[in-house]
Amino acid sequence: MEYIDLRSDTVSHPTVAMREAMAKARVGDDVYRDDPTVNQLEADAAEIFGMEAAVFVTSGTQGNLCALMSHCQRGDSIIVGDLSHIYEFEQGGMAQIGGILPRTVPVQADGTLCLDDIEKAIYPDDEHKPVTRLIGLENTHNAAGGMPISAAYTTAVAEFARNKGLILHIDGARIFNAAAAYGVDVKELAAGAHSVTFCLSKGLCAPAGSILMGSHDFIRRARRARKALGGSLRQAGILAAAGLIALHEMKDRLHEDHEHAMLLAEGLSEIPDINIESQNTNFVVFSLSQRAKLSVDAFVGSLRAEYNIFMSPYSRGEKHVRMRTHYWIDKKVIEKVVAAVSSVLS
Ligand SMILES: *Cc1c(COP(=O)(O)O)cnc(C)c1O
Repeated sequence: MEYIDLRSDTVSHPTVAMREAMAKARVGDDVYRDDPTVNQLEADAAEIFGMEAAVFVTSGTQGNLCALMSHCQRGDSIIVGDLSHIYEFEQGGMAQIGGILPRTVPVQADGTLCLDDIEKAIYPDDEHKPVTRLIGLENTHNAAGGMPISAAYTTAVAEFARNKGLILHIDGARIFNAAAAYGVDVKELAAGAHSVTFCLSKGLCAPAGSILMGSHDFIRRARRARKALGGSLRQAGILAAAGLIALHEMKDRLHEDHEHAMLLAEGLSEIPDINIESQNTNFVVFSLSQRAKLSVDAFVGSLRAEYNIFMSPYSRGEKHVRMRTHYWIDKKVIEKVVAAVSSVLS
């Protein structure tokens, strides 16, 4: 890439090996379940997560919506974090399309939800109230700055959900980053959940696609929801071929992205006027000091115009700059970024 794109890991391009595998992929009509490459990807994903079955979906958003529509009746309510991706960044699809009412609880700084808050958000059995059906967790937590959520916490929520007769869904868009951060198997992070989604794109570099997993019966219903949402593809093996490389090879190198994010944070922290706000997994968030000669927007604009370096300004109250490392960001790139930031601020 002749530009350096740190806005997100979603910008990662497929690798050379992925492009070759895509060109050679064996395909069939996946709506007839005839695509051998999709079938293999689904079977392998289910096995890696210790789940009964899996379905390939076009995006994480579609996977989450298929999951909620398959677990819930119209009019049901679900408990999710007030900063969760499902609630904040999926256009309210659950309500708009699924007729599902979200009830939010505060996301803690570590990306978790307090069990006390969850308990208070469960509606009583009262005909005035919707039926509470499900708890949604997110791992890693996007709005909490890429916070990885531990197996111990997830297991505690799973047990709580079971005791209350609720379903646990995990939006695990970056769950392999959490597995890398804790040095555990994703099976442990998924244990006790009724369904889990993860993204093949983002840090895993596939051009598109996510996987939704759960029981056989749940996945059968999720396939129906996927069809209604327009997500049933035909020769999807072209995409699944890249997905297989994401699943079998790319997931094992995510610790490199985390090391690079750490290096980036270290390098930037030496620059006067840069305050590192957080660095978790492959995320780095920083702010500019009040004395800085540029506003956040002018700073991001100069990096882009002068150095072809892209970062995301974003604000939740204070204005911050967000970066995410990925496969195409190596140590040399990081040195260039640190030098460029230093020069636009001096
Ligand atoms: C990216 C992301 C999704 C899904 O995004 P798509 O762009 O629809 O694939 C869902 N949840 C989280 C936490 C994400 O970061």
